[in-house]
Amino acid sequence: MTILPNSLHARDVAYQFHPYTNARRHERIGPMVIDRGSGVYVYDDQGREYIEALAGLWSVAVGFGEQRLVDAATRQMARLPYYHTFSHKSHEPSIELAEKLVKMSPDGLDHVFFTNSGSEANDTVVKLAWYYNNALDRPQKKKFIARNGGYHGITVVAGSLTGLQVNQRGFDLPLPFVRHVTCPHHYRYAEAGESEEAFADRLAAELEATILAEGPDTVAAFIGEPVMGAGGVLVPPRTYWQKVQEVCRRYDVLVVADEVINGFGRLGTLFACETFDIKPDLLVVSKQITSSYQPLAAVLFSDAVYQAIADQTERLGNFGHGFTASGHPVATAVGLENLAIIEERGLVANAAKVGARLQAGLATFADHPLVGEVRGIGLIGAVELVADKATKAKFDPPGKVGLYLFERAQEHGLIVRAIADTIAFCPPLIITEAQIDEVLARFGRALDDTQAWVVAGMPA
Ligand code: PMP
Repeated sequence: MTILPNSLHARDVAYQFHPYTNARRHERIGPMVIDRGSGVYVYDDQGREYIEALAGLWSVAVGFGEQRLVDAATRQMARLPYYHTFSHKSHEPSIELAEKLVKMSPDGLDHVFFTNSGSEANDTVVKLAWYYNNALDRPQKKKFIARNGGYHGITVVAGSLTGLQVNQRGFDLPLPFVRHVTCPHHYRYAEAGESEEAFADRLAAELEATILAEGPDTVAAFIGEPVMGAGGVLVPPRTYWQKVQEVCRRYDVLVVADEVINGFGRLGTLFACETFDIKPDLLVVSKQITSSYQPLAAVLFSDAVYQAIADQTERLGNFGHGFTASGHPVATAVGLENLAIIEERGLVANAAKVGARLQAGLATFADHPLVGEVRGIGLIGAVELVADKATKAKFDPPGKVGLYLFERAQEHGLIVRAIADTIAFCPPLIITEAQIDEVLARFGRALDDTQAWVVAGMPA
């Protein structure tokens, strides 16, 4: 598209430096300006309609244009637009949401700390774990074990937990307190002939060997997304979480579940911890907590962690950590209303039901010549494109074919996400079966366009 002088597009290129964007390419092609949204659809400034099959960034559970969230925000803005939660101050929406989160979350999580973003929440997790081990007089027990392919955000600390090159190359990350272990993706990392069960055993043994090599008295925590999102929608082997938890318990290593994408119904259960029987010491949530109508995240943690930390705050004077907007009244009010909508409309059950249709539909692409693997659970799924189905060889350069498909999908009125050559789907939880069929039909057209282009030798 030509960028007209003084257009929104030209001003965007001139003034706004974008996250996750190739700046030079952006200068050439300009932005896609999204103007409004309704339900599972968004509309660009040219009036074109798209099905938002990634729910924004995996987050708009109740869909776009939900008036109840607008009203909740408006009411709170009028009553108390801002107040903080530092030094014994509080306000009703933050209190109500903290109570609600403790009551709805898996057993054993009894306390809530609010942040604005998932990255800040994961930074908070690291600081809680460090503070906790200092409180217990274990000053050496500070390392975190995370997984290759994991995503925990992009701040200096959270970006160190993340196990993706794109977030670390050029940024001098990760910091040295993190060790990354093998990504639990059977298709890519299992050995020839290795069953899912044996693969899970091997990864648990690797975790144990890593803890022993580092010294158990130096390892504070293990962090993982139950189902990895940004790393390519990777569902672990069934017994993986059970096995890694056993290892963590053996060495007094905290288990942290990052449910920033998984939480609040995405997998067809309220939390992924239910799906995989995870009993975390700390749980991180964000995104679908407000359907991203407001920025909000939270760390939930056990009473054992709380008690040690609380004693330490008394020794040190106070807990010297928190954000100006921790528990922001408008964000927490919107969160409460959003969770009420998820409950009243049965959106978790909808994710299970409609999710089955998504998974069955995606599975029909497994025989396509470009498709190496189809995977997913509930209302999150992915299709991985490969150069050679038999050898699983990736395309060279990686990401070129994924980007081509992503752009064809947009031409067909479908927004998905291309993670290198993996196409991810994560539609709003309100999506209907008919809309899922439409997502699949549009994707199928884009896939066929891509196949024709690949067969033609990928002309520029
Ligand atoms: N953890 C996970 C699992 C995520 O998917 C994300 C965001 N995609 C984050 C943390 C970071 O959240 P934020 O972008 O709000 O910092």
